Amino acid sequence: MLLCDFHIHTKYSDGSVELRRTIDLFGQAGFDVIAITDHVVNGDNGIGKLAHRFRLSVRENNFDEYISNVRQEAERALDKYGMLVVPGVEISKNYLSSEKSAHILLIDIKEFISASWSFEKIFLAAKEQEALIIACHPHHMSDFSRETLFLWNNRDKYAKYIDAWEIANRDDVFNVISLKKYPYIANSDFHRARHLYSWKTLLNCEKSVESIKQCIRHNKGVAITLFRN
Ligand code: ZN
Ligand code: ZN
Repeated sequence: MLLCDFHIHTKYSDGSVELRRTIDLFGQAGFDVIAITDHVVNGDNGIGKLAHRFRLSVRENNFDEYISNVRQEAERALDKYGMLVVPGVEISKNYLSSEKSAHILLIDIKEFISASWSFEKIFLAAKEQEALIIACHPHHMSDFSRETLFLWNNRDKYAKYIDAWEIANRDDVFNVISLKKYPYIANSDFHRARHLYSWKTLLNCEKSVESIKQCIRHNKGVAITLFRN
């Protein structure tokens, strides 16, 4: 099965490791598929404005540069490690209340999508680009300051747009996803080198972007594993 991690941050947002070094860490650890998913933060409130000021967000004016650098690194990763690297973002709608906040991975994104848009507009734009839509850390976490509960609390309205939910994020496991029988994957939410050791996804499919998206959407041949040194 393919060893995969679809939730990875670099210095393009709040990760502490440069893109190139991140690729090397995962390549040397033997990963088959990864997605680089730096934050795109909503700029419509104080928290978002600070994130933009401190460059902790990919912005509309550097999105193309970000994607083209990820694609360039993807070529190197395929050559050097046989590892597939897919460009993505984590749409990050941050509010003071965790009940209003939501984070969404868009994997295989091609054009900029703003985190200040409405949920419907984001989901429809992502579908148009055929990006994979993943609800991140959807339930209570060991670090409650990172909680984002909006999508879970509004699942009756939004589940139809979501291709899969994170059933595990780094050290946390969300049993509600399994109880609801929602499609699932597991990711590191990598920000530092030590986050390499965390929950991961295993996929039984071909190593191509299309096969991976299909495998996750159908959610057959999917497993999770706790990757340790
Ligand atoms: Zn997040
Ligand atoms: Zn994240």
